Amino acid sequence: MLDALRSWVFPSACEGCDRPGPALCAACAPAVAIHFAIDGIPATALGAYEGPLRDAILAMKRGARDPLAAFAQLLDAVTIDGALVPLPTTAARAAERGFDQSIALARAVAARRSLSCLELLDKHGLPQAGRGREGRLAASGRFRLKPGVALPPAVTLLDDVCTTGATIRDAVALLRTLHVSVERITLVARSETQLQGR
Ligand SMILES: [Zn+2]
Repeated sequence: MLDALRSWVFPSACEGCDRPGPALCAACAPAVAIHFAIDGIPATALGAYEGPLRDAILAMKRGARDPLAAFAQLLDAVTIDGALVPLPTTAARAAERGFDQSIALARAVAARRSLSCLELLDKHGLPQAGRGREGRLAASGRFRLKPGVALPPAVTLLDDVCTTGATIRDAVALLRTLHVSVERITLVARSETQLQGR
């Protein structure tokens, strides 16, 4: 609500430096993408989950539209193979926020590039926030296929933040059992805890 009010009173400003313009100005946007792999699948994040990028992600989760548009634009440079599939949050969390940021971002990215955005997955169980690292690593089987969807042969998964990678591995495991090839993983940010044990 405050973000909506702010964007009405003050048209779009950078989350990092408050300069009028896009939600991440050229100076505050991450300069170099992070390329890594999760279970051998190439993954790209716009940057580390810190500083202005983190601020912009938190603003997006509060419902601000400008950061979402800025991320979609920055993701233009990232390779996507196959259909774009967002990793949804739980229905309870999405209802609490009023929207699902990964799905909203995937729709924006797909629209810019005339790709298909396939909302294949539902997530159930408790949201990860508030659970410990071990609890998150142990979480499995949290996704299920939406009823009645047609499966593509190959997909790129999209999520906002990757912390341990457990959520992504969970989705990859499900898709592999369905013979869907996960070609790439696209992320807005990677939390540096990802570096541990990798
Ligand atoms: Zn800035």
